[in-house]
Amino acid sequence: MDLFEYQARDLFAAHGVPVLDGRVATTPEEAQAAAEALGGGTVVVKAQVKVGGRGKAGGVKLAHSPAEAAERAGEILGMDIKGHTVHQVMVAEGAKIAEEFYFSVLLDRSNRTYLAMASVEGGMEIEQLAVERPEALARVPVDALTGIDAAKAAEIAEAAGFSDELKAQVTDVFQKLWTVFTAEDATLVEVNPLVRTESGEVVALDGKVTLDENAEFRHAGHADLADAAAADPLEAKAKALNLNYVKLDGQVGIIGNGAGLVMSTLDVVAYAGEKHGGTKPANFLDIGGGASAQVMANGLDVILNDPQVESVFVNVFGGITACDEVAKGIVSALGILGDEATKPLVVRLDGNNVEEGRRILAEANHPLVTVVDTMDGAADKAAELANVGN
Ligand code: GDP
Ligand code: MN
Repeated sequence: MDLFEYQARDLFAAHGVPVLDGRVATTPEEAQAAAEALGGGTVVVKAQVKVGGRGKAGGVKLAHSPAEAAERAGEILGMDIKGHTVHQVMVAEGAKIAEEFYFSVLLDRSNRTYLAMASVEGGMEIEQLAVERPEALARVPVDALTGIDAAKAAEIAEAAGFSDELKAQVTDVFQKLWTVFTAEDATLVEVNPLVRTESGEVVALDGKVTLDENAEFRHAGHADLADAAAADPLEAKAKALNLNYVKLDGQVGIIGNGAGLVMSTLDVVAYAGEKHGGTKPANFLDIGGGASAQVMANGLDVILNDPQVESVFVNVFGGITACDEVAKGIVSALGILGDEATKPLVVRLDGNNVEEGRRILAEANHPLVTVVDTMDGAADKAAELANVGN
């Protein structure tokens, strides 16, 4: 999960990283009040969108009075930055910048380690710096167990070419940013620019943080950081029901048990759809092993509430949870949903106790359910049924 700059700033502050005071505003009036609360002096008004290059796009502007802050906020709010509409700005104390640096630490998957990057040439887009002057960007692997301690921080500062006067300050900030990275279970912490102000302080002026959602369970506060406004309502509902659901653009709803089976189901449905007007999978939904009737009902409930869905393909390979249990689950899920279930279901069962599972479905003889024995055949049927309405 990517955070907004102001959220990253809050995490930085919580771990002692020097930042400037700032407040979020959603209207010019709020921006004016925020500038007043910050002392009435120079502030910077910054678009809060989860995309880089806001400065270049005109989404970061200085204002020398609260009235001007309102004006700048009026210009920035509603702006489109690389496809992201600005709904809120951060009004922050203006910094008098003497120098701009770059620092980041991230999970380096290809090298199976962490990687710190730093440069005394911050401010500009780092991708550009990495291409044009790679020697100006220090890259220092960070061991997961020792992390960025004083010695590692000194190594990074040295490699990046920080002056001796600055080393004490920046190494302290690097260690605190490492604390943010580990304590918050982040996969990226980036500060661009990290600045030296005219009065000699080192301050994180911009922050980009990506949190590892797999670690959400041990951070009570992280769920609150999710951008409810941007979340797909069905994905939010699925998340609340503890389902592994990803909304896609097609018309065939997919339910399967096991991520691998669901992935291959997406493939066979997309392939079958080519013969049926280009119908495509509408979602990824893995109900996992041991799925109960209630889990099946929850899954169907989410999928049937997607107005784009025209048919549903339930593809289950019975293992520990045998096919008869799954079949009972489907029948009772349809019972739970009652009139809410209106779209055709194609069911393919295989594996443990498949005969009994098929018998239960045949006996229930539900008008919406078609049982097909093979995965390809079922995908074809589901794609065909989804195409009928188009
Ligand atoms: P980004 O373009 O999305 O990365 O947004 P940043 O927060 O990094 O801001 C872009 C640039 O605006 C920075 O590199 C600074 O040069 C400038 N800037 C940001 N905040 C301030 C500030 O408080 N004072 C001054 N003078 N410039 C700022
Ligand atoms: Mn930046």
